[in-house]
Amino acid sequence: MNNLKENLQNIRSRIASACESAGRNPDEIDILAVSKRHPASLIRALRALGPASFGENYVQEALGKMEQLSDAPIEWHFIGPLQSNKTRAVAEHFDWVQSADRIKVLRRLSAQRPPDLPELNICIQVNIDREPQKAGVLPEEASALAAVIRELPRLRLRGLMAIPLAASASHDPAQSYERLHSLFDELNRAGAGMDTLSAGMSADLEAAIMHGSTMVRIGTDLLGPRPDDSEAEH
Ligand SMILES: *Cc1c(COP(=O)(O)O)cnc(C)c1O
Repeated sequence: MNNLKENLQNIRSRIASACESAGRNPDEIDILAVSKRHPASLIRALRALGPASFGENYVQEALGKMEQLSDAPIEWHFIGPLQSNKTRAVAEHFDWVQSADRIKVLRRLSAQRPPDLPELNICIQVNIDREPQKAGVLPEEASALAAVIRELPRLRLRGLMAIPLAASASHDPAQSYERLHSLFDELNRAGAGMDTLSAGMSADLEAAIMHGSTMVRIGTDLLGPRPDDSEAEH
């Protein structure tokens, strides 16, 4: 916990140098702190240092932390797999859903979004490397899903999110981010009106920023290694 300040400074300086290489302004990049499996106390400590947007992957776990942090102004992003039977809690308690990939779930989120809250911000998750087990729509399916979202009254399409195939000798995630960026531009040229490209994590934020990311999702390098996941809900 003592390292939070240093971790945040490191992330900010990595963003600054990536932006310098890419000829971009660091103000264009938002930091989403990914707090899955970390306790509310750690979120509170990081919030006190500035970051106001937090990402959570498990509904029950997130609701518990939100209750403990109800006095803290935080923008909550749901970034994990979302089943139909958990949409109500997400529609009622989150500000963003970045893992949208199914029409049925999106219809429920729109229907269940409380009328007194602003529209729920949505990013379409794209399975950019066409991995068999991975969540997200295939790149060629994103346009149809964007059209559905734009017609749902309580949802606001904000952008695309992707988790590329892990780096290896045969794969450079920069190529995935480049394809994601092209898809983002293509959909916007067709009128999607998106302003958010959620791309880049602890290991590869530089490559993502080089290819148009406007939001990096940082867990490990900001909050430290995640505690044992044996109790996580799946
Ligand atoms: C856990 C997670 C992250 C953060 O990953 P780190 O490598 O710890 O930075 C980012 N995005 C999603 C969707 C995640 O589930």
